[in-house]
Amino acid sequence: MIVKENSNKDIYKGDLSTFLTQIKVDPSKGLTDDEVISKREIFGANVLKEKKKKSIFERIFDQFKDFMVIILIIASVVSGLLGEWIDSIVIIAIVIVNAILGIAQEGKAEKAIEALQKMSAPNAKVIRNNKLIIIPASEIVPGDVCILEAGDIVPADLRLIESSSLKAEEASLTGESVPVEKSHSIIINNDVSLGDRVNMCFMSTAITYGRGKGMVISTGHATEIGSIANRLQDIKEEPTPLQRNLNELGKWLGIICLIVCAVVFAHGVIMGGKIIDVFMTAVSLAVAAIPEGLPAVVTIVLALGMRRMADKHAIMKQLLAVETLGSVDVICSDKTGTLTQNEMTVTRAWANNSVYQLTGQGYGPKGEILDADGKTIGQIDIESPLYRLFHIGALCNDAKLVKGEGDMYSIIGDPTEAAMVVGSEKLGISSEEMSEVHPRTNDLPFDSERKMMTTFHEGIHEEGVTTSYTKGGPDVILSNCESIFTAKGIIPLTPELRATVLKNNHELASAALRVLAFAFKENSSEISFEAEKSMTFVGLMGMIDPERPEARDAIALCTKAGIRAVMITGDYKDTAVAIAKNLGLMKEGSGVMTGPELDQISDEELLKVVEITSVYARVSPDHKVRIVTALRQNGHIASMTGDGVNDAMALKRADIGVAMGITGTEVAKGTANMILTDDNFATIVAAVREGRIIYSNIRKFVGFLLSCNVGEILVIFITSILLGPKFSPLLPIQLLWLNLVTDSFPALALGREKGEKDIMDEKPRSSKESIINRPMIYSILVQSAAIFIAVFGAFQVGRYLYPDSGGEPSMHARTFAFVALICAELLRAFSCRSEHASVFKLGFFSNRYLTSASLLSVVLVLIVVYVPFLQPIFSTNALSISDWGVVVGFALIPFVVGELYKLIRRVLLKSKK
Ligand code: ATP
Repeated sequence: MIVKENSNKDIYKGDLSTFLTQIKVDPSKGLTDDEVISKREIFGANVLKEKKKKSIFERIFDQFKDFMVIILIIASVVSGLLGEWIDSIVIIAIVIVNAILGIAQEGKAEKAIEALQKMSAPNAKVIRNNKLIIIPASEIVPGDVCILEAGDIVPADLRLIESSSLKAEEASLTGESVPVEKSHSIIINNDVSLGDRVNMCFMSTAITYGRGKGMVISTGHATEIGSIANRLQDIKEEPTPLQRNLNELGKWLGIICLIVCAVVFAHGVIMGGKIIDVFMTAVSLAVAAIPEGLPAVVTIVLALGMRRMADKHAIMKQLLAVETLGSVDVICSDKTGTLTQNEMTVTRAWANNSVYQLTGQGYGPKGEILDADGKTIGQIDIESPLYRLFHIGALCNDAKLVKGEGDMYSIIGDPTEAAMVVGSEKLGISSEEMSEVHPRTNDLPFDSERKMMTTFHEGIHEEGVTTSYTKGGPDVILSNCESIFTAKGIIPLTPELRATVLKNNHELASAALRVLAFAFKENSSEISFEAEKSMTFVGLMGMIDPERPEARDAIALCTKAGIRAVMITGDYKDTAVAIAKNLGLMKEGSGVMTGPELDQISDEELLKVVEITSVYARVSPDHKVRIVTALRQNGHIASMTGDGVNDAMALKRADIGVAMGITGTEVAKGTANMILTDDNFATIVAAVREGRIIYSNIRKFVGFLLSCNVGEILVIFITSILLGPKFSPLLPIQLLWLNLVTDSFPALALGREKGEKDIMDEKPRSSKESIINRPMIYSILVQSAAIFIAVFGAFQVGRYLYPDSGGEPSMHARTFAFVALICAELLRAFSCRSEHASVFKLGFFSNRYLTSASLLSVVLVLIVVYVPFLQPIFSTNALSISDWGVVVGFALIPFVVGELYKLIRRVLLKSKK
């Protein structure tokens, strides 16, 4: 990448017009495609640090860093030195096969994660070829014209060419956490520090307020953040608690194995065994005991789970989040767009103490205005309060209605505002035309703290006089009004009139309508928040926002799964409660709290309140932080949704921060652990279900692999103590083949189980509970004992049918043990498909991955048993049909024991209930 370091150091100096003449890009048209291509060639991609990909050699080397692999290499060298050439070569060959499988699986997991990272990479809005488009921020080049809005992450360093109440938070660059006011009109002539370059915005900082337009000056490494990026550490993904847990377990097993090895070795030597035999038995034990590749399988299963979730509209950003999801017990969700469809239609209006109805559905601007008696209103007086109500709705608005084919309409912008554009059209007021007649001279953008938005227009009352139009939450607007506009003109807003407004607001809100209030102020030329005080109230609009049909079922599913769904909305209390009731979210005894009520209670009191509250209304982002903090202090694992720039803190605090993919800001998406590409509540619940499935699958293969490992230790340990070191039924090479080759496919296949039907009938698992809990330990002990019986039994029968020779068991007897063990483990894998349900209930072959993996493993066994040149290497002999009968009979023991164990547990659990 050829980027001149800080080539535009002084670009903030001088006035804007000089800057624009230097730059030679028309800010209204932006760059052309050809210009973009040639600039990309010169300046490269707009990225800070491309992750260095590991070379194949590094990958191979990584595989050989493993503790077990080192033991095996030592074993191979020792066997070589002792003259056992075949053993030595085969051990190395198996280690290589294991490494190749490891690299292939790792590559698969990495690819899945990379694809997800691409999906969650930030976007930017730019003007190119005279059109506003959204592109990945990495594609920006110097000279691009960027649009900035509250919630955006600044995609590159840029000089502002337009701005309106713009503020940026630059803590990542300057350490200053209070947002800085930015303006294109400030002229700086002297050298100033970064924090004072207020006519510029810098890459990676966040726009917290207002709007702006800027010309990109530098990208990637040439930006200010780029110049310090080299100092920034590579962010490495920490191992998840589960991975740490398993690493820890691996270490413990390693230690136990060393002790057992020492005992076996000492015992063997005392009994007068040959050093090479004793040594090989000890190596067998090491191979048997170490759950090789377990952490790697966990990573692969988590990564593949992430990909499955992305297909279901939930993009997970870290492996850790996938793991946490399964234990979520409270889901806090926004209302608008998540529980509802965010497709608003104004259906009612109130002005001049009269109620009106608007007919028509969706964004098509066709419909009538009916009075309280249901009669159509014809011509509307442009001096009337009703007309003024929709006039404000049309002008104090950033949304656009776009006509498609036939009667199809779509919108650009906020659905709440689009509904007003449509409503105004029904009264014959065109938002577009009105904006030309009374252009906006300035604005105070909407934010969810103020819950209001104001625009300034000239010539509404008189030529040359500015009027401000404000809309927002009825309670906020009403408390900032002193007069009211009626058919008699502007009159004082008496307490009685206020009560009337509130009563009507309550009526609209109780019908589950989202209500907005409208007001104006004449002679409001000063562009400050003063314009939002002492206003004249005009009226109310009530809009319907249909509930998402799937939200109801998702909430019912949550209840069944022991998860509490909580609504946290900026909307009015009555609207929130009405919708919550419709969705089945308000249970008996569950309470409602509003933002102002939350302000009155202490953090200690809040700890109790969060346990019984299902709906929070009129909250601002700060309240969300308090709520999620209290929930976590009470030990809950909470997920929290958010979309705005101010939600970032709450998203960070939550165990699972969930950002909206469609309506969410870049800041929210940047801080969240999970992004919903469809903004849908049901998707969160589906992701939790998927999280539970992944965790239970991990338990399944951990249980499977560990019981196999412990079973193998018992076989070698007990037989070598009982019969002497020469009589170990399993040789190291056989065990290697088994553990590294045949076991890993079924384990991975268990990680791909579809999930049991009743996975959402159980309470969320405690996040503190270790994966290897008591039931799992019991199950492993029972299973490994069963494996021991099966293998030992098969071996002894083998010895009886094919007697020992030369003081050693026959190869045939060893083949009995080896094949019995593999078959027992494969059958056992099927039984592991559920920790409590019978495999026959699941459908024996319903996991096609496991069926194929088992077939593959069977083929791998047949190869070593029947291919003549492999027989001496693996110390095997061809088995006859009757031999197979004996072997399979013994191999069925662990399977039968496993199924019986589950049956007994089911009966015991039922009797407990
Ligand atoms: P949720 O938090 O569930 O998404 P919400 O959309 O109501 O609900 P906010 O976006 O924080 O939450 O809005 C808070 C309140 O501000 C709304 O209830 C409404 O009264 C008012 N409001 C929403 N959008 C606008 C807007 N574009 N202009 C003016 N006021 C608005």
